[in-house]
Amino acid sequence: MDAYNVLIIGSGPAGLFAALQLERLGVDRIGIIDRYPYPAGGLLNDGKLNFDYRVGIDLDELKLDRDSAQRLMEEIKLVFAQFPKCRQVTFLDRNEKIEALESIAGEHGVQFIAPEQWHWGTDNGKAVVDYLKNLLKKTEFLLGTAATSIVRQNDDTYHVLCSHQRKKVCHAAKVVLAAPGRSGAYWFRDVAAKLNVCHNFGPIDVGIRVELNRKFYDEVTDIVYDPKFIFRTTRHGDRVRTFCTNPGGRVRSENYNNFKLVNGDALAGRKTGNTNFALINTVSLTAPYSDTTEFGHMIARQFFLLGGGRPIVQRVGDFREGRRSSISTFNSRTRHFGLCRATYNATPGDITLGLPARIIDNLWESLKKMDKIVPGTLHPSTLMYAPEIKFFDTHFITDEHLETNVKGIFVAGDGTGKSRGIVGAGISGIIAARGIFRKYF
Ligand SMILES: Cc1cc2nc3c(=O)[nH]c(=O)nc-3n(C[C@H](O)[C@H](O)[C@H](O)COP(=O)(O)OP(=O)(O)OC[C@H]3O[C@@H](n4cnc5c(N)ncnc54)[C@H](O)[C@@H]3O)c2cc1C
Repeated sequence: MDAYNVLIIGSGPAGLFAALQLERLGVDRIGIIDRYPYPAGGLLNDGKLNFDYRVGIDLDELKLDRDSAQRLMEEIKLVFAQFPKCRQVTFLDRNEKIEALESIAGEHGVQFIAPEQWHWGTDNGKAVVDYLKNLLKKTEFLLGTAATSIVRQNDDTYHVLCSHQRKKVCHAAKVVLAAPGRSGAYWFRDVAAKLNVCHNFGPIDVGIRVELNRKFYDEVTDIVYDPKFIFRTTRHGDRVRTFCTNPGGRVRSENYNNFKLVNGDALAGRKTGNTNFALINTVSLTAPYSDTTEFGHMIARQFFLLGGGRPIVQRVGDFREGRRSSISTFNSRTRHFGLCRATYNATPGDITLGLPARIIDNLWESLKKMDKIVPGTLHPSTLMYAPEIKFFDTHFITDEHLETNVKGIFVAGDGTGKSRGIVGAGISGIIAARGIFRKYF
């Protein structure tokens, strides 16, 4: 059995930045476990980086003030800025245009945020991962290895039981950092419960991905690559926001074991004629049922069933008329799209069958406001894909070093409620690494 000082579960940005920080602090015998044969996690996707404390991190959750968050962002930026294919795409010095957008949004009661943004594109994903991996000199990668459980030993060390090439293996560690991302969140929740690690449920984001002809949206994305519009709905008082905009991008589907979710990305080298963005509604649940993860899973499984194993896509024109979309509606002459992948990665149908009425109300009200800010958004050919769900909702209770109530178990990244994006995940990895060093070395 191999013994490590620190075993990190997950080789996404949270895990990689934690390892980088531990190495810089002089810690050796670091291992990173990932179930896939190539390290990466979500780094292979798109790579939009938001450097703004209002986006992708929760200051309270990380127990950070704005200045400390901004300083940590600078550290992350410094690492990515040395990767030549990562380029800045939103410059805050073009103030008048950003101010004009803020003002138009404000007239419709919508908040507009323009963060400093960088981007590398999915086609540069492998190169960025290789670049980060090469920065790590003392870390051992245990790839193609799925962690199955974590067992505490009498001497307060841990055994991480894994499956590797269908064989059971065990790795020992003084400290475990769990950074399993959204795909491993459910797994870690069960494992953590067996170790008596405490968690609670935060809100979940449920909604759709909107895809429209990019000519309508270029005016905005030429100024701010990934514009953030935040709506407060009048009927329910709920919060809806745009998220993850991909100018000239593609709609993608994310495969979970028993359902699929929609998402989006863009390449650096080849653009499509469309732009897509997520429009998501924040949902909190209270007694008697507060398990937002299970709530999200129920919605996702319903779509999986209704869409015959694929997400559902509906044209705005059909939605307005109260009818489902079908293959024939995609071939209609109003279509207005350059490339439309809809009919082979999603099933034309009716998104109102799978989303709760309150969420549909909120999304539609927000889209109507959006159409006033960006005319053309609600063109009949605009597509709405569902479900887009962001599982950042299981929050592990930690101290300021991201150590849980169980000594030696630290958490970081999206799957543990500590971030909502690459930069935030990296920051949480750095915080956890510094905490591990301070407490255990
Ligand atoms: C299509 C798409 C586009 C995106 N675009 C952007 C973007 O442009 N900008 C942005 O900021 N964010 C984007 N994201 C989100 C981003 O990928 C995540 O926020 C980020 O990767 C979270 O980092 P993480 O380290 O917490 O987890 P992840 O990056 O998800 O890494 C977790 C790793 O843990 C591994 N793992 C899980 N469970 C186990 C287990 N039991 N045993 C072993 N290994 C395990 C997984 O295989 C995975 O490699 C996108 C996501 C998708 C799907």
